[in-house]
Amino acid sequence: MSEAFRVTIWHEFRHEKRNPVVSALYPQGMHAAIADGLRMFGDFDIRLVALDDPEQGLPEATLNNTDVLVWWGHLAHHEVADALAERVQQRVLDGMGLVVLHSGHMSKPFRRLMGTGCMLKWREADDNERIWIVNPGHAIARGLPERIEIEAEEMYGEHFDVPTPDELVAISWFKGGEVFRSACCWYRGAGRVFYFRPGHETYPTYYHQDVRRVIANGVRWAAPVGGAAPLRGNTQPVQS
Ligand code: ZN
Repeated sequence: MSEAFRVTIWHEFRHEKRNPVVSALYPQGMHAAIADGLRMFGDFDIRLVALDDPEQGLPEATLNNTDVLVWWGHLAHHEVADALAERVQQRVLDGMGLVVLHSGHMSKPFRRLMGTGCMLKWREADDNERIWIVNPGHAIARGLPERIEIEAEEMYGEHFDVPTPDELVAISWFKGGEVFRSACCWYRGAGRVFYFRPGHETYPTYYHQDVRRVIANGVRWAAPVGGAAPLRGNTQPVQS
């Protein structure tokens, strides 16, 4: 099977323009580093878009030609048009994959698809993060070690206000004692949603080999499976 999924990486791309720490870490933007990570682990057809692009980076033609949408946002969730968030939600229900990273937990498309508040505890204090794979048979665990060690990250702690994941792949432990469901899968309509926690903008997390592998595996897991579109509504018997 060809693996050339059309992956669109949507990035808010604002921190890099106002915080020199972030632009030094990610001179081409975090989305470029995420794309480089994907290329290490798959033959993906990648497009980078940003909030400040025309039509907020996602004109209908782009969205309709995306198999998996990767989303990183933080400062400007409220600027994303409700109509765009609704189109993303609809595309997922129709079969598009959505991979939401880090602070994207509060993005409009993710919150619409979850139907809950999606908030959590957080702390910026250079905690080390230990991500334990709790479902080693899952497709997203492919090629990963038993645990992923990140030297310093922002802490996210439970309770994470999301529906119980359909599949939980990993949980994080932080130096401060908190834990977090950090790699979560949901099915929505014909589509799939994968949330992966790490990736605060002031850390080099998207250069971490195992983090990159999780994202690549997540994109592959979320890709449309190509099943028939179900017919709904009033219907004749299959057999008379
Ligand atoms: Zn953050």
